[in-house]
Amino acid sequence: MNLHRRDLNRAALCLALGAFGAFSEARAAAAPRWKTTPFTLGVASGQPRPESVVLWTRLAPDPVAEPGFDARVACPVRYALYADEALRQPVRAGEVMALPERAHAVHVPLDGLSPGRSYWYRFTCGNARSAVGRTRTAPAPDAAVGRLRIALASCQHWEQGFFVAHREIAQRDVDLVLFVGDYIYEGSSPAYTAQTGRAHGSWTPHTLAQYRARHALYKSDADLQAAHATHPWIVTLDDHEVVNDYADDRDPAYTDPARFLQRRAAAYRAYFEHMPLALPPQGAAMRIHDRFNWGRLANLWTLDTRQHRSHHACPDPARDVGQSPTACAELADPTRTMLGAAQERWLSQGLAASTARWNLLGQATQVSATGIDTPEGHQTWTDGWDGYPVARGRLLQGIADANVRNVISLGGDVHRHAAADLRLLPNDPASPRLASEFIGGSVTSRGASQRSMARMRRDNPDVLHARGDERGWALLDITPDAARCEFRSTPHGVPVDAVFGTQARFVVADGAAGVQRD
Ligand code: FE
Ligand code: CA
Repeated sequence: MNLHRRDLNRAALCLALGAFGAFSEARAAAAPRWKTTPFTLGVASGQPRPESVVLWTRLAPDPVAEPGFDARVACPVRYALYADEALRQPVRAGEVMALPERAHAVHVPLDGLSPGRSYWYRFTCGNARSAVGRTRTAPAPDAAVGRLRIALASCQHWEQGFFVAHREIAQRDVDLVLFVGDYIYEGSSPAYTAQTGRAHGSWTPHTLAQYRARHALYKSDADLQAAHATHPWIVTLDDHEVVNDYADDRDPAYTDPARFLQRRAAAYRAYFEHMPLALPPQGAAMRIHDRFNWGRLANLWTLDTRQHRSHHACPDPARDVGQSPTACAELADPTRTMLGAAQERWLSQGLAASTARWNLLGQATQVSATGIDTPEGHQTWTDGWDGYPVARGRLLQGIADANVRNVISLGGDVHRHAAADLRLLPNDPASPRLASEFIGGSVTSRGASQRSMARMRRDNPDVLHARGDERGWALLDITPDAARCEFRSTPHGVPVDAVFGTQARFVVADGAAGVQRD
């Protein structure tokens, strides 16, 4: 059943019944007359499939000062999809209710579309009209596709710089944006505000209203809106959409799990309300992992590396954030999991059955090892895949056993551009290369110094490239013969007029796991 149909029914029901539950005060504004536009957060599309795509917008005339307008009013929003940029050839139109219980967010899953083509769309509400968005469907599953271009991005701290990376992404001819987490940040870095003039405000979100306001603040950015309005997005989450370094039901403060899950539910719900996604979360549970395909050229799995993971190994009893222990026997525990048993099985079966030329994993953090040798012992970072080495081994062993062709992990989280080889035994030249990895930098969030990157690379020869001093994104250009990656970058502290250049280029050749300079 279509979401919008259900919403319409719900709205009709609540209007008819008058006083009932959460909808008791909802009433319809038949044709609202807006004094200022309610489409302040732009438009977006996502989850491109051969015959479907999800359109999104949200009515928010005063987005940061929630609720901004009469929060009890359900508003009818019309959508229209066109086959041409001039909006002369209508393909589909309809009406959905923007409901107060959804912060007046509108999600329109459209199916029955034609594969492998662009569409344009626009929303109207009363006298207000949204910007025009462009989207694109995936090619037919059996299509012999010659090319897939992906903009890989992650980690956009509002206060630490401007989202100029998205301005460049909006200008590029890519098929989709793959955003792999830290879409918002819950924590503030006031030191940056003096440079950028961008401030979160004084609070850290815990409630639904606070997470909504944080998302609205980020979505008010014109460059981010441009990237959303120009390309369909495929997304997964990392930690900061909820709170730094959470693992399943545990947060850094060891908050009572039931209470933390209420916070997680609020964060997931606000995330859904601001993203072109079809399915809302159910309380604290959200189905994040998904699979997409681009004809016979590529399969893309998006993974959830937060919700189902084991708690951190050898945690600090005072504050449970990622650690760098030099001795931690718990790391070798085979019951520890990054994806959870169900997602792990789903992924390994999917990879084993894949007939696509390229098999891409869109996931939040770095898969390749980054531990360093110190006088006290080997030091590893427990919040990334290094904290789940047995689970990483299972993933790579599955790729080896099924002889899965051309696997590339596309990650974020670590605020660096990186290119690496993935072996069953990291950094062991005797262990064959099984897959490849690219990390697309961070849009604005600060990374590690070049000194520490050089030290990390000294002990991890599988990591062929790592730059933590620049910000940016990565352009993946995938053809049947090769997957090319161009790291787009600008120095840290991205000003509003930042200029981007090419930091490095890498390529993975068909049939030869591992990254090479291009
Ligand atoms: Fe981040
Ligand atoms: Ca992160």
